[in-house]
Amino acid sequence: MHCIFCDIVDGKAKAEILFEDNKIISFLDINPLNYGHSLVIPKKHFENFFDVPIEELSAVIRMTQMISKAVKDSLKSDGINVISNNGSAAGQSIFHFHFHIIPRFINDDLKFKLNLKSYSYGLKKEFGDKIRLALKV
Ligand code: 5GP
Ligand code: ZN
Repeated sequence: MHCIFCDIVDGKAKAEILFEDNKIISFLDINPLNYGHSLVIPKKHFENFFDVPIEELSAVIRMTQMISKAVKDSLKSDGINVISNNGSAAGQSIFHFHFHIIPRFINDDLKFKLNLKSYSYGLKKEFGDKIRLALKV
């Protein structure tokens, strides 16, 4: 399937590239939530977080921290959101794994709509048990 991020890696599509090495490339998001909104991706195509081998993932995370610091320092942002959407239900629209780095400013009026739940008695343990049982350690 055609992938616009692979095109950016291959130089077939334009992007405002911030940094690249043999494994990773980082560039500005075309439709930023705030100016300076950046993306970090592995050069190899993996669909999402679950598919990325640990070696590639470590490189992506290292680069995400480095780019985040540069975004924060250069734009004097008050904070940074580091986000990864995985699966269309979670808002993923480009199915080539990536981290978003979003500079945040006090009163920037950017709101993630939260509908917080609370656990009823016993439910926390039920969910804890489910997840612990599925852990592959
Ligand atoms: P997702 O929705 O998958 O978490 O994030 C995909 C991001 O890629 C979106 O924020 C979108 O604006 C960005 N994007 C989509 N197409 C392009 C493109 O051609 N160039 C760049 N630089 N960013 C893109
Ligand atoms: Zn791709």
